[in-house]
Amino acid sequence: DTNNTSKEADGISSVIPGWFSEISPMWPGEAHSLKVEKVLFQGKSDYQNVMVFQSSTYGKVLVLDGVIQLTERDECAYQEMITHLPLCSIPNPKKVLVIGGGDGGVLREVSRHSSVEQIDICEIDKMVVDVSKQYFPDVAVGYDDPRVKLHIGDGVAFLKAVPEGTYDAVIVDSSDPIGPAQELFEKPFFESVAKALRPGGVVCTQAESIWLHMHIIEDIVANCRQIFKGSVNYAWTTGPLVDFKHPVNPIDKDESCCKSKRPLKFYNSEIHSAAFCLPSFAKKVIESK
Ligand code: SAM
Repeated sequence: DTNNTSKEADGISSVIPGWFSEISPMWPGEAHSLKVEKVLFQGKSDYQNVMVFQSSTYGKVLVLDGVIQLTERDECAYQEMITHLPLCSIPNPKKVLVIGGGDGGVLREVSRHSSVEQIDICEIDKMVVDVSKQYFPDVAVGYDDPRVKLHIGDGVAFLKAVPEGTYDAVIVDSSDPIGPAQELFEKPFFESVAKALRPGGVVCTQAESIWLHMHIIEDIVANCRQIFKGSVNYAWTTGPLVDFKHPVNPIDKDESCCKSKRPLKFYNSEIHSAAFCLPSFAKKVIESK
């Protein structure tokens, strides 16, 4: 009887007691479930429901409004790729802006780049920052870098106030386009990113899944091709004017300045280039825009 599942609160599903099921209108008819050892934190900020639980096989897990944001086991794939694809595609990045990314993982990766002098982050929800520092110290270690300046606020408003040509790179590590991140997927936001970037700068944004969200990806690619003068490319991980596909600023070797002193777990120059190889169904759509 399909009606016996009560309304899930934040994905704590009654379908399989003791499991967290990621049920969202972003992926109708499917759910990724993780066995819950213990719920470590549950709170409601001004923007979203925040939960942390200890899973049995993926370490600790951060959930916002019922959607998994990161797990200790596989966050490296996402944080390393969303950071090093752009930063290894331009020579000598100095000023970097992160939008979202409140867990600090992208900051940890940006801090590996010794050429970077200034790292601004604009995260709307202070509860995410505080919870990440408490429960995910290996991720939030990014905040320890003295080059980091945290701004608590809406990334849309922050970018509107940024002087033209300020940043070499903008990394949009946002949650999904339902809830506070909705405007981070819309054309006006990308227009403000283009204004904030210096000529030859690079932006990299979290752009959902080719399996689930080709309609969102189509719109982002079409908008970005209208707004940005240079190249626009889509890369994926299992978890841009710029020749994205061949890193000019290799990071594999440069581990010197990284605060966390932990070696890269996922990114390397080969996977950088390979990330732009897409399945035909996605390639056809993206190249047609
Ligand atoms: N890796 C995750 C993913 O792929 O979905 C995203 C991680 S990070 C936790 C996403 C962050 O974006 C959250 O902390 C959320 O509060 C933040 N966020 C959402 N909308 C925002 C906005 N308009 N301005 C700034 N930060 C925002």
